[in-house]
Order: sequence, then structure tokens, then C-alpha cells
Amino acid sequence: MYLSSAASEAVASALHKIASRSLTSSSAATSQKKQHIIILGGGIAGLSTARYLLGHTQQHRNVNITLIDRNVVDNNNNTQPSSTYEEQQTEYPHFSTPSRRNGNVLCPSLTIPWTTRSLFNEAIKPAIKSVFAFNNNQADDRPAITFDWKSLMSDRSMYSFATHYLLQKTIYKPPKQHQCNKSILEYNMECLDDPCDALVQSIDYGRFAQGTQLVDGKMVEGDSSGDVGLFCRGLLRGLQCEFDDRFVVRSEESVDSLVLTEDHGNNDNGQQHQDSLSAVVTVDRNGIKSTIHADQFVIALGNESRPLCNKIQVPCPIYPVKGHLVTISSSVDCIYNITLPNGIGYAAPMDHKVNGRRLYRLSGFVDFTPNKEPDQHRIDALVNAAKIHLDDVEVIDASACHRPFSADDRPIIGPAAKFGNVYLCTGFGSRGWSVGLGSGSLLASLILGLPCNVDPEPYLPRRFGARYF
Ligand SMILES: Cc1cc2nc3c(=O)[nH]c(=O)nc-3n(C[C@H](O)[C@H](O)[C@H](O)COP(=O)(O)OP(=O)(O)OC[C@H]3O[C@@H](n4cnc5c(N)ncnc54)[C@H](O)[C@@H]3O)c2cc1C
Repeated sequence: MYLSSAASEAVASALHKIASRSLTSSSAATSQKKQHIIILGGGIAGLSTARYLLGHTQQHRNVNITLIDRNVVDNNNNTQPSSTYEEQQTEYPHFSTPSRRNGNVLCPSLTIPWTTRSLFNEAIKPAIKSVFAFNNNQADDRPAITFDWKSLMSDRSMYSFATHYLLQKTIYKPPKQHQCNKSILEYNMECLDDPCDALVQSIDYGRFAQGTQLVDGKMVEGDSSGDVGLFCRGLLRGLQCEFDDRFVVRSEESVDSLVLTEDHGNNDNGQQHQDSLSAVVTVDRNGIKSTIHADQFVIALGNESRPLCNKIQVPCPIYPVKGHLVTISSSVDCIYNITLPNGIGYAAPMDHKVNGRRLYRLSGFVDFTPNKEPDQHRIDALVNAAKIHLDDVEVIDASACHRPFSADDRPIIGPAAKFGNVYLCTGFGSRGWSVGLGSGSLLASLILGLPCNVDPEPYLPRRFGARYF
């Protein structure tokens, strides 16, 4: 369905109004009623949501947050930022979590979602090549996108993801798809640079690059680089200091299951109550279970959001897509991100130096595979691509990690279908560092019924109407 631009703007604005009306009905920002909100996941999505929920309710102090993460999110009391890269890595291990270590690129310019690209070039062609590539151990020439068919064919969630992808690409596509990612990306930079946000401004996350150089040599302004792991750690510590009486972190506790409210009676208007959650059950590393009750629940588990949503039959089409990361040093001192050739990824300069040599984080490749191990061919390909721009490269470390891609390559932010007290903040894909803080701010505004500078409509989970397969 195609709409003229005036008509599509009118539809978008009407939808925004409807969304705002339905989402502002239970404003907690000004209400005196105390609320306990549980945030599941302490990555950039969960921490950013906590930051704005706590910040906006500072006056009435009526919101308490419990943040749960299966990993150690605050593993020491050291309040000094680590001065060297090595110190940082030992002090704050990344446990294969993309919010601890990623490509470091803050990229508001990277707006184009997968759903607007050529299905043949982006999916079918690489898919056919992958049939041969995964059987080829000397696969240096694999395309940037590959599909591990053997595993994918037996994974039901892939069928659901693919169905949602096709529906979003062909039928449900919103007017101005490019604009959709653009607004949250730009809003994120506003949040990062908000001069009134003393907490965020106090975090030293090594913001460094000024722009991105494209393959054709053109420069894109507005992009930058910084360390997502340092940012998350700084944000966590800031929240613990500023809101110590209203913010509890339960780390090393894994979310096991969700408890549904049993009352399905009628409300004062005679309408049946919406489904709701009453508690979350966690398991700690000794196997001890705890049931934690709350009024509202935010699911921000990255790649793990989909399996949990499945348990309560909430559509959340996210697929974990593997990427590679390599940290290198070079004698070349570059102050901008470099786009690596053939669409394989980026080289982002860091503000750390080792023996006078600039550190860079290389990131790239899109492999649909459950395999978690770093692949030496992918690592070599990233290093070789970086060598085109950077001299005497030395590899410092390398790893692989999965990105939580949503079926239409847009974040999923807002209330979960059919539940009155469950919200999603997930599906950030390859732009999580570049949209995380803004997404947390948007979700907090939706939960508290506050206005936000971003139209929530393109991100609402209800665009994925049903669960398939
Ligand atoms: C290789 C690679 C390079 C990337 N490069 C960039 C980049 O340059 N720029 C950019 O903008 N983005 C980049 N990204 C994307 C970005 O890192 C992610 O989108 C973002 O970190 C996702 O954040 P999240 O909070 O949604 O999920 P996560 O970071 O996965 O956080 C989820 C949290 O939930 C916890 N959790 C999971 N399951 C459970 C459970 N059962 N119980 C309790 N806790 C649980 C995890 O421990 C984790 O802390 C990259 C990603 C990868 C993999």
C-alpha cells in the first residue's frame, strides 16, 4: 500500500495521537501511588530504561526499580575509571554480551533498515552462496551475510522471524521507513549530549571519533565512537549513587519464568481485566529460586527476549545474528570511523592508546548461525580490510557475539500486546549502542505517561500482530 507523503504524515500523526492517548492513561509520573517496576536485563536497554524511570520520578519518589541480570553487572566497588585498555577488560569482562563489548560505533547515519533493501541481493543471493560456504573450511571468500542452513531449518523461531520479515517488507511497511530509524537514532544522540543530564554527562565512555568515512571516501558528520561497556558501567554506578534508596540490582540471577495474575474478573466499567503479570521467578547460581512481585515489568533481555516472550505468548520476532569483533592497534592516528569495503563492517578509533599506538575496534559480518565461537576467517578478513586504511596493524583481542535483530530491523519499544503491565525494550540489532539510551527514554515516557520528542508508533510491539509457528 502506497500513500502520498501528505496522507502518510496525517496517518502517522493520527496514530501518534491514538498511541499517546492509550499509553498515557495510567500516568505514574504525577501519581502518588507507589509502583515497583522490575527490569529484566542489565544491558544498555535495561539500564537506560531504569535511568529515565528513576529520573522522571525523582520529585514524587513513587517508583522503585529492581534490575535483574544473570551476569555480574557490578563486580567491584572501584569507582575510578580504569586507565588502560587491559585494566578495563579484566575489571569488566564482557561475557558475550553486546552491551559490554561491541563495535564502538555511534552511528546516527545508519538509518536504512533491512526491510527496505533488495531481498535478492541481501538475502537470496547470500543464502544460495551460504549453502556452499558452510561446507567450505577455507571459506575466506564467503559473503558478508551467511546462513547456516542446517541449523536454521530445524529452528522454528527462524520461520517466525522470516514470516514477520516478509510481512513487514511487503505489507505492513510504515510510510517513511527510513525516517523510523532516523528519529530514534537522532533522539539517542540528543539524550547522550543532553547538557541537563548531569548523570549521563559525568560518564567517561571514551567518546572519540568525529564522523564516518564511507567506502567512496565521503565523510558523514554526526557519527562518533565510544565504549558501550564503559557507558553501561558508568550508568549503573551513577544510578546506584543517585538513587540508592529506589534502585536494587540483583545480579547473577537468571530469569526463569513469569507468573500470571490469576484474577480475570471485571473492572469498574464491567470490562474484563487485561492479562497481567504478578511476579518473576529467578534462579541464582546456587540454584535457589526467588519469586519477586511487582506492578510493572520491562523485558530488556536482548537475544533472550524472544524465548521469554514466547512463554507468555507475546510476539517478539528477534533473531540472534552473529558478528565479529577485533581490537587492533596501529601507528596511524585516525579521528573518524572507517567503513570497511564490501559492506563487511567498521573500524572505530578508541580514545585508548597502547605505547603511543591508537586502538581501534573492528566489527562486522552477519552470520545467521547459533555457533558462538569466533571464526578465524572472519577475524582475518576484518584485519585485512582494516590494513587497507591502517598501517602496521597488531591484533590485541578478538571475539564473536550475537546481535538481537528484530524482523523489520527497528527497535521494539512499548507495551506488549494483551498485557496491561508488560513492556518491551529490545530488538536493537546492530545499532543498540546508537539507539539504547534514546529507547530507554522513550519507553520510560510511555510507562509514565509523559510526552516524548519521538513518535512511538513505528517502534510499538503491536506491529507484530501475531506469533507464527
Ligand atoms: C559484534 C557486534 C558489534 C556491534 N557493534 C555495534 C556498534 O558498533 N554500534 C551499535 O550501535 N551497536 C552495535 N552492536 C549492537 C549492540 O551492541 C546491541 O544491539 C545492544 O548491546 C543490545 O543491547 P540490549 O540491552 O538490548 O541486550 P544485551 O546487551 O544482550 O543485554 C541483555 C542483558 O540481559 C541479560 N540476560 C539475558 N538473559 C537473561 C536471563 N534469562 N536472566 C537474566 N538476565 C538475562 C544479559 O546478561 C544482558 O546483560 C553490536 C553488536 C554486536 C554483537
